[in-house]
Amino acid sequence: MNQDLFLYNSIGGQKVKFEPINPPFVGMYVCGPTVYSDVHLGNCRTFLTFDLLYRYLTHLGYKVRYVRNITDAGHLENDADAGEDKIAKKARLEELEPMEIVQRYTVGFRHVMGLFNMLPPSIEPTATGHIVEQIEMVKKIMEKGLAYEVNGSVYFDVIKYQEQFKNYGELSGRKIDELIAGAGAEKRTLEGQDEKRNPVDFAIWKKASPYHIMRWVSPWGEGFPGWHLECSAMSTKYLGEEFDIHGGGMDLKFPHHEAEIAQNNACCNHGGPRIWLHSNMLTVNGKRMGKSEGNAFLPEELFAGSHPLLTKGYSPMTVRFFMLQAHYRSTLDFSNEALHAAEKGFKRITDAVNLLASLKSGVASDFNWKQWESEVYAAMNDDLNSPVAIAHLFEAAKRINSISEGKESVSKEDLERIQYFIPVFLQDVLGIRNENMAAGNEENTVDGLMQLIINLRNEARFRKDFQTSDIIRDSLKEVGIQLKDGKEGTGWEKTTS
Ligand code: AMP
Ligand code: ZN
Repeated sequence: MNQDLFLYNSIGGQKVKFEPINPPFVGMYVCGPTVYSDVHLGNCRTFLTFDLLYRYLTHLGYKVRYVRNITDAGHLENDADAGEDKIAKKARLEELEPMEIVQRYTVGFRHVMGLFNMLPPSIEPTATGHIVEQIEMVKKIMEKGLAYEVNGSVYFDVIKYQEQFKNYGELSGRKIDELIAGAGAEKRTLEGQDEKRNPVDFAIWKKASPYHIMRWVSPWGEGFPGWHLECSAMSTKYLGEEFDIHGGGMDLKFPHHEAEIAQNNACCNHGGPRIWLHSNMLTVNGKRMGKSEGNAFLPEELFAGSHPLLTKGYSPMTVRFFMLQAHYRSTLDFSNEALHAAEKGFKRITDAVNLLASLKSGVASDFNWKQWESEVYAAMNDDLNSPVAIAHLFEAAKRINSISEGKESVSKEDLERIQYFIPVFLQDVLGIRNENMAAGNEENTVDGLMQLIINLRNEARFRKDFQTSDIIRDSLKEVGIQLKDGKEGTGWEKTTS
């Protein structure tokens, strides 16, 4: 692959050439869920963006360490420095242990990720599993004189930090003067704010009140870490003080990611990631989908079609396809009509892919398939432009149908190319799983498996790895399946024994 990958860095606000610090290794950190309730479709969109990036980087040959945390402590109500811990509150309401809440929603989260065919991250660290690292980080920041203790809580000194580093607000585009004014107004309404030297400061360690259940011993008494700290501590631990990519939803830019950068610099003189990637919001009638907005859909409601906004259910892969048809930096509005259109489009592509294995080659056509393939890569290299890549797939589907109907021809070389590339791109990069196979229909399953095996063999032959392609043919023969290689492609039949 001789094209460069460009990604949009939220710091600086432009597309930059992706150059890993230590190729072929890539370190990527993504803020994971706060496991106090069911994951909604908006959350899924953000995780899908980074699943796509993970898959694409891996496809390009990078060895990616993908770290996505689980927030199981420290995230207070309204993302603020005061109020109840979201998990502890849910535990209180349901009369359960906080760790029962964490377990329930972590299991649910992983289940939903699996339904959408999202790959598990390489490491999935939890905030509660890294209290020691967080305490160490607080100590380091205090040693640098950029945090101070008041009454068992430790606050990050934003003003002092800004004097030294002059970059607070750079990611989110906020002006420190305006932040100070804004935080000053909030001060009157939020308890505990009077401990801060300046209202813009944020807690990196909080003293636990007597009724706060989730608490740990620290040099400053019993308490718990500030929400922003866990991501600084865990990204540093697993990816180093400087790493390649940090991702999350757009709504996390401030205060969460701005605070992370400040903590990283204060502790280690590095801001952490070189590239900040932010995924835009899934909206409903133009409004961000969110738990607090009351317009959140559960994936199950979507699959079952049980939500009042839906006329029917949609399969997980249709929903995945629907989301991939929007660029990750654009908002995406959820509606029954949009999903319906996505379902039709998705079927057009999967139907064409199902025809691939049975296509017959002939004379070369005018259509340049090699160029077509490089345009798919060009789209992905242009800041993961999946909608453009999918538009190219629609073009391919149209031509596959024409070839199948004998209206258009394709050379043997081009046919082998697309028989290899299209399924690989769809499955490995876009993460689209063949749902016919998943449905458990035996005939479909056998057809699907045979198509998969033939595609793998085509891939081997394309690479001139004839040893592997012969092993596949001979092994199939042993179980009573005869592959038939013709000029026009490969078919199969059961042999009578
Ligand atoms: P939370 O569990 O609330 O911390 O959110 C987990 C992730 O989902 C974060 O990266 C959020 O930015 C993201 N997120 C929340 N709501 C939406 C939405 N409506 N669209 C896209 N991403 C979202
Ligand atoms: Zn985070």
